[in-house]
Amino acid sequence: MKLVSAETKIRIDLSKCQYEILEEVVSDLKWDNDNFEKPDIIWQDSALNPMSLSLLSPYQRINHFPGMYAISRKDYLAKHLKAMEQLHKSEFEFFPETWVLPQEYISLKTHMASNTNAYYICKPPNLSQGKGIFLTKWISDIPENCVVQKYLENPYLLDGFKFDLRLYVLVTGFDPLRVYIHEQGIVRLATIPYAKPTDTNIHNIYMHLTNYAINKNNPNFVHNKNYSEDFVGHKRSFKSFLKALEEDGHNIKKIMARIDDIVLKTLCTVQPFIVNLYRTSQPNDTSSAVCFQILGFDILLDYKLRPSLLEVNHTPSFTTDSPLDRKVKKAVIKDCLKMIAAKPECQKKFLREHTDYLIERSFHSFYRVKLVKSERREKFLKHQIEMETTFHGGYRKIYPLNNIEKYQKYMRDAEGVYSSKARRRNRESEIRCVPRLRKSSADKRFIIDDNKNQNRRRSCVTRISLVPKVVQIKINNDFIGGARA
Ligand code: ADP
Repeated sequence: MKLVSAETKIRIDLSKCQYEILEEVVSDLKWDNDNFEKPDIIWQDSALNPMSLSLLSPYQRINHFPGMYAISRKDYLAKHLKAMEQLHKSEFEFFPETWVLPQEYISLKTHMASNTNAYYICKPPNLSQGKGIFLTKWISDIPENCVVQKYLENPYLLDGFKFDLRLYVLVTGFDPLRVYIHEQGIVRLATIPYAKPTDTNIHNIYMHLTNYAINKNNPNFVHNKNYSEDFVGHKRSFKSFLKALEEDGHNIKKIMARIDDIVLKTLCTVQPFIVNLYRTSQPNDTSSAVCFQILGFDILLDYKLRPSLLEVNHTPSFTTDSPLDRKVKKAVIKDCLKMIAAKPECQKKFLREHTDYLIERSFHSFYRVKLVKSERREKFLKHQIEMETTFHGGYRKIYPLNNIEKYQKYMRDAEGVYSSKARRRNRESEIRCVPRLRKSSADKRFIIDDNKNQNRRRSCVTRISLVPKVVQIKINNDFIGGARA
């Protein structure tokens, strides 16, 4: 399969992207980069809101999903994972014990009172790069609005240093879910040898935090100077790290399987929410392929090499300060662009088919239109998945494989949590507005209007299944993915 036909030159808009590496990749691919009115692909650094998504045509592509803040904000991520943990206790214990303040202040206070020797890490909910993070064991130090986690005291060490892993996960669709993880990633080391937290060392950020943004300021920081030496210094390649573990006799397949599981469970918790935002912003898109996204998953390994999720970054940095950064990030971006570049080639075909679809809609019954829509969707998905399979580069598919049922269960449960939250929000807004309407007016018209509103609200929370049924798609007898039935 060819990436694009000879006459098709992909038009990408990088005007809202600050990273030089993107321009470099686009020039390597020989694509047109300009501020086009209707580009085929838009790559922007900032998040995407549903309104901006609704302005895009179904054949365009953009590098964000709306609503990703649901896992990238530390407080929302904690709330989602805790809700799932209540349903699947041990299966969601990959996240450090967490309290979101002010709501869980009493619970935290009780925990701290009965664990007086334990240390906690306190994080602002909406900041990154280690900003505002500190360790403590005293409740009086903790601000009113923050996320507090039990400090994981026994990390796996590299040359005596604490480290975390930045892994790149590509989501090419949420409806149905399609997820890949890149073989390249970055191992980020602290710059002072690790010691368990004590009252005297907890303020040493170069010992306890592994953020590059922090540690690069330590004069001890050893920069990578040559990509071929990717297992020295305070930033190393994930590939070389896995190789070193394997040489030491560790089972890296088992470690990766655990990491894949963490990634998928985390995405499952927000899948119904993101599908809902997507469908409301792009009601005419039968392919569900406008959005794709590279997420940065930050993972900490404990002394037994068991992974824990620290956070998910929806705008991972693509700054390239060293040859190692350049090599890793270039591969992550280039492989992603090659995989999603199928769309522009289909543009003309799409427009033709869309016209056919509109004609169908005006002449045929609702059921006939639904059928046409689902046939088109399946056809498109098949093509898309074929592209993803052919041009995956360093990305390894982690969903869907023979794990569909396992993760569909989590998506269904997440949908239940999401619908019950929506119902509760609606009830609360009813309680808030009904007395006001009654008080403000004895006029019957308001009460009638209010009843109408209630009905409308009720209809909003009617359960729509957002978890797509998945059927197998086979190409040359190989199972390559799922599409909505
Ligand atoms: P940020 O978004 O600011 O980078 P993180 O949640 O990733 O915030 O935390 C920053 C650093 O703090 C991590 O890279 C890690 O080294 C350390 N850290 C975070 N949470 C924990 C924890 N629960 N236990 C031990 N170390 C942690």
